Amino acid sequence: MTAVHDPRTGEVERSLTPPDPAELAVTATRLRAAAPAWQDLGFAGRGDVLRSWADRIEAHADELTAALVADTGRRTESVMEVQQVAGMARRWAASAEELLAPATGTTAVPGIDLLTTSRPYDLVGVISPWNFPLLLGLIDAIPALAAGCAVLAKPSEVTPRFIAPLRRTVAEVPELSGVLELVEGAGETGAALIGLVDLVCFTGSVPTGRLVGAAAAAAFIPAFLELGGKDPAIVLPGADLDRASSALLWGGTANAGQSCLSIERVYVDAAHHDELVDLLVTKAEKVRLAWPGLADGELGPLIDPAQARVVESHLADAVAKGATVRTGGSVERHGGGWWVRPTVLTGVDHTMAVMREETFGPVLPVMAYRSVEEAVALANDSEYGLSGAVFGPEPDAEAVAGRLAVGAVSVNDAGLTAFIHDGEKNSFGLSGLGGSRMGAASIRRFVRKQTVMTNHATDPDPWWYRT
Ligand code: NAD
Repeated sequence: MTAVHDPRTGEVERSLTPPDPAELAVTATRLRAAAPAWQDLGFAGRGDVLRSWADRIEAHADELTAALVADTGRRTESVMEVQQVAGMARRWAASAEELLAPATGTTAVPGIDLLTTSRPYDLVGVISPWNFPLLLGLIDAIPALAAGCAVLAKPSEVTPRFIAPLRRTVAEVPELSGVLELVEGAGETGAALIGLVDLVCFTGSVPTGRLVGAAAAAAFIPAFLELGGKDPAIVLPGADLDRASSALLWGGTANAGQSCLSIERVYVDAAHHDELVDLLVTKAEKVRLAWPGLADGELGPLIDPAQARVVESHLADAVAKGATVRTGGSVERHGGGWWVRPTVLTGVDHTMAVMREETFGPVLPVMAYRSVEEAVALANDSEYGLSGAVFGPEPDAEAVAGRLAVGAVSVNDAGLTAFIHDGEKNSFGLSGLGGSRMGAASIRRFVRKQTVMTNHATDPDPWWYRT
């Protein structure tokens, strides 16, 4: 039985209550049966429902935030998650119709015209991780609902407390409660879900992503995989180091580094290395742990004890191979939870796990480079390719950004995809597979295009009958 831990105290609070496979199948059947009526509501009708839901989410913001705080041990990001999902519901309600509008067209053959429409999948499955439980539980569900799909979502077993208050917001919008269900459960429930849906969106680690991809292939359904990252940042000569250090600190330590889009490696030209490191260390040391009280600092605990062990092993490996800890540098135990202060490492290289594998903690290893060529090569020397950052004068910084093998690059900032979702992006390497979760392409993942070709001509014997 999966135990649910309190990330601030380490105490076991309760166990999960997942549906058994038969119950899950009944839920999937009910949702699938409700999909046609949901589609018949049309974009305007679904938009109204999603807007009502956004209102209910805001009305229950305190309750939802409290549950997310209990799930994750941090407050600021929990408040942001609730605001973001309400905004997302309104945005997709407003834009879905235009993005999926039917298109008419003529063809090279006189008399034959086209009508291309979007046919939603009936039932979309969403499997999500623990680092932003609400946001990542709904980032795919909302556009899928707007497109006309029913959704069966299984958030992470590590952070299930927000599910109950979220369900209450859904229950207050009757049209929505027929087409959106959230279930508790661990890997077995996620695996069972794949066999019941028409399409799966998965956010999580690479090893699980591989399993989900293989299961989706066996079930012959599309899988959209949003996986890990090892995001690089390049600081070019001429960059504003004060600004770069503030952005890097935010990008590397927000949510205690537990974001796929965290900056996990910094490359700075050798002439500016020491100055950047000094700025990072000075600013990092002003960040306090949110302990003992939630409001006592900015940085929350590591949410998952398993991840704390990864952070610890990366730090130990780096130090054993010659890295210097400039500040932070250890996993601390407070009140049974796992905590890491913002950490700056120097003397790092690509033999170290901290430069190659996803750390998922507030750790900024800084490495000097001698040429921009070398910086780009180092940034691209990774199995991952989620996002990255470049600091420097424009347009040189944008030119370097265009050479990174990643799906999104922030220029003179970091981690902008955390709240700017307008630009389409695809993952490179092991960071994911499938269409863009961001931008207009996001909602198009949830439909199949259908083209009707009508021959309006009266000619009973067109030339192609004779070939
Ligand atoms: P995880 O892979 O351990 O679990 C993710 C989800 O998959 C959970 O809900 C889990 O129950 C479920 N699961 C486990 N086994 C399964 C199976 N066999 N079939 C179906 N579902 C299964 O990931 P995690 O530790 O919860 O999350 C951290 C990871 O998520 C990090 O690697 C992080 O980079 C990644 N992430 C990626 C993005 C992105 O947008 N690319 C965003 C956030 C997090």
